[in-house]
Amino acid sequence: MDFDVVTAGAGFSGLYLIYRLRRLGFSVRVFDEALDVGGTWYWNRYPGARCDIPTTDYSYSFDPELEKEWTWSEKYATQPEILAYLGHVADKYDLRRDIQFGTKIESAAWDEEMRGWRLRTSAGDEVTCRFYVAATGCLSLPKKPDIEGVDRFGGEVYFTGRWPHEKVDFTGKRVAVIGTGSSGIQCIPLIAREAAQLTVFQRTPNFSCPAWNGPEDPERVARFAADRDAYRQAARWSRGGVPIEPTDVIGTAAPEEVRRRRFEEAWQKGELFAILNVFADQLVNPASNELVSEMIREKIRSIVHDPETAEALCPKDHPFGTKRPCLDTDYFATFNLPHVRLVDLRKTPIKTITETGIDTAAETFEFDAIVYATGFDAMTGPLVSVDIKGRDGITLKDKWAEGPATYLGLTTTGFPNFFMVTGPESPSVFSNMVVSIEQHVDWICDALDDMRRDGYDTIEPTPLAEEGWHRHNADCANITLHPLANSWYMGANVPGKPRVLYPYIGGVDRYRAACDEARARGYLGFKLTGPGGERCNDGVIRRLQPDVSLVLEAMEAMNLPALETLSPAEARAFMDQSAAIRPPGPAVGSEEDGLVPLDVPLEYRLYRPESPGPHPLVVYFHGGGWVLGSHVSDEPFCRDLCTRSDAAVLSVNYRHAPEWRFPAAAEDAVAAVRWAADNAVELGTVPGEVAVAGWSAGGNLAAVAAQRAGVPLRGQLLLCPVVDCDFSRPSYEENAEGYVLTRALMEWFWDHYCDPPSRTDPLASPLRAASLEGLPPAVVVTAEFDPLRDEGDAYAAALAAAGVPVTHLRARGHTHTSLTMVDVVISSAPVRAEMASALRSLFPSLAPAAAA
Ligand SMILES: Cc1cc2nc3c(=O)[nH]c(=O)nc-3n(C[C@H](O)[C@H](O)[C@H](O)COP(=O)(O)OP(=O)(O)OC[C@H]3O[C@@H](n4cnc5c(N)ncnc54)[C@H](O)[C@@H]3O)c2cc1C
Repeated sequence: MDFDVVTAGAGFSGLYLIYRLRRLGFSVRVFDEALDVGGTWYWNRYPGARCDIPTTDYSYSFDPELEKEWTWSEKYATQPEILAYLGHVADKYDLRRDIQFGTKIESAAWDEEMRGWRLRTSAGDEVTCRFYVAATGCLSLPKKPDIEGVDRFGGEVYFTGRWPHEKVDFTGKRVAVIGTGSSGIQCIPLIAREAAQLTVFQRTPNFSCPAWNGPEDPERVARFAADRDAYRQAARWSRGGVPIEPTDVIGTAAPEEVRRRRFEEAWQKGELFAILNVFADQLVNPASNELVSEMIREKIRSIVHDPETAEALCPKDHPFGTKRPCLDTDYFATFNLPHVRLVDLRKTPIKTITETGIDTAAETFEFDAIVYATGFDAMTGPLVSVDIKGRDGITLKDKWAEGPATYLGLTTTGFPNFFMVTGPESPSVFSNMVVSIEQHVDWICDALDDMRRDGYDTIEPTPLAEEGWHRHNADCANITLHPLANSWYMGANVPGKPRVLYPYIGGVDRYRAACDEARARGYLGFKLTGPGGERCNDGVIRRLQPDVSLVLEAMEAMNLPALETLSPAEARAFMDQSAAIRPPGPAVGSEEDGLVPLDVPLEYRLYRPESPGPHPLVVYFHGGGWVLGSHVSDEPFCRDLCTRSDAAVLSVNYRHAPEWRFPAAAEDAVAAVRWAADNAVELGTVPGEVAVAGWSAGGNLAAVAAQRAGVPLRGQLLLCPVVDCDFSRPSYEENAEGYVLTRALMEWFWDHYCDPPSRTDPLASPLRAASLEGLPPAVVVTAEFDPLRDEGDAYAAALAAAGVPVTHLRARGHTHTSLTMVDVVISSAPVRAEMASALRSLFPSLAPAAAA
């Protein structure tokens, strides 16, 4: 083969690849359509083009010497300065000798026999290599404007992404700029300085904050100078590739003055990651997001004099941060200039470009020049614009017809020895890209080095690993507000492009950890082949829901005592403390407290929906291993169940162990259900429409009550229930530790509740009942990472086998406790919605609404 590695692209990625590969002794050839190095910074020469990540961060970190000899002149360097920097890098390490400029890679085909790639270039050459690395950039393929008549205009035409090398002079000219994304927002103030008239055509207003460009922030410079290694390390392990401390201030919970102060500080800082970090929950909670969005709108209104123009510039169709936010210098103030005008295309769309200008639905405009700042076919565009054929001749374009699927954003099945730098499903455009580029190049180079050492010459991800990573990406995306926006992050700017969140939103730090882990675990999820044999350590790298992981990490960091090491009194005090700081759950129509009149009366709280009653009744038993909790300890969950199901929820307490051992709690549950069924009318609920529900040990009591109450019940909702005393099922092994409910804790609960000989009694282990026939329809929810998963599954199966209608929901990526963490674990909400919908379908008075 001609080369070990061939790469397309000579920007930040391609240059660092040559540097690393050469040092490892691999032969490499890079092709770029451009006539010199620079990539993005070669092509985007429009006035005002500059980075919007502070340049100290937006620079290579691999060589301390390079860092010492280069000083940036501004906080946000201009395109010429960044291009000069990349030219300097190319000179310093003599990189150009491995680059062929002015040459595009047009096709790449995997040759199974050769175990390598055959590439065709625009120069008509065929080049062969073992590994093909696409360093083609995420924002390198300008999108052709989808406007009628684009080719008709007879005046000057410019595209921000393909700007001429010589200075363009707009002095005295009538200029149109179409598009108000990052490039438009950067060039508009500068074009306005020269042009006689500037008309800006805006389809979607964008959030933008002032860059306050000038000398680099002295605090950052000092921190960097004091310990550059620590600074770079902090960037690598940060959320976005710039070292900042993530806030824990919840927008909706913070007092007004705290909100304002945090926002003002971020606004004055002039940094993207500051304004994205005003509130911890601004990208996941619409209400918190709206607080930030509105404060930015207030700023826009305070800058722009004409109220109508100001309103047109205020973004209202997407949550802040779900489209690439911009940093600007005098963007909004530019619209106060008498020769600058905004045309709102939502009100008066462009009909056509004409020979002399632009016709909108309302007006005819004449121009000397039109500037298209219409963006890019981002992320996948540059990859699939090369005709890449993998094994069996499948093209990447076809494989990704429904959206990209990758493993770690680096590789994709069916395309052996093919790597992407900052590809889809990696943090990429959500990050400081130089940090992400270095991480990807390092990972690829380390992999090639490892393979050579171990005698492998091909690497390809497995379908299982890819599917898992793809799902993890979707899980991360779905807890954010991103899917609500028609953004280029979602592919929405290109007609027909699949609508998914293209970059990985889980964070640079978590992403790096996943990549490092895959390598450390012997290339988990990859198949390696070669003279050294074959190795495949198949598996999925991230199986927990992302927010469940966050909660587990936070709990681990708190170093909490294991409950089973405490006395029951201590454990109860601890649970009360935890309950005091959790979100309260949604508001319900009303709540009232009362007593179930038994020999030992049982406290209850009745939650009623907001809708007019009477409602069906769900008698609910709380979790807590028969030892902990009370009728109000699952309050957020009860409120959530009440609002989602539109049923009244009667949360009844029961006698706890060890003071009251088995069968006290079970007897209470049975008696409480009988009492509730007999008193449905007095409770203001629909007679004959009673169901039981419970979580964990409460699920045990609900299952027992469904078997023993002897009153007609509409259903039973069992959430992660304890239904058996057998600890030998695989889920007890797999999830013995690390997911809050541990095997040791379950042993502690059982020991407090019930003597070993009695545990097999169906009153303690309802799975062991002689018959389950004739029981009320069941909704059984089990969680993947729960020791109780398998017994819950077994109960659902046994009920179904006995002819009981069963809806069995398996909560993927969840733990025993995550499903009840209302407003904390966002990914649990869809499971609760499904659960509530299944429950309401069991009540005749609600069923039609459920169907609707
Ligand atoms: C105006 C603008 C401002 C930006 N500002 C920031 C910022 O502040 N912070 C940030 O993190 N990111 C920013 N970005 C993103 C930026 O693209 C990356 O930071 C980084 O420059 C990407 O480097 P790269 O080498 O991966 O890709 P690129 O710089 O895009 O280089 C890719 C190269 O590949 C070449 N190429 C593509 N296809 C082929 C092919 N088939 N054959 C041969 N050559 C090919 C292209 O010609 C191009 O030169 C900005 C992007 C733009 C457009």
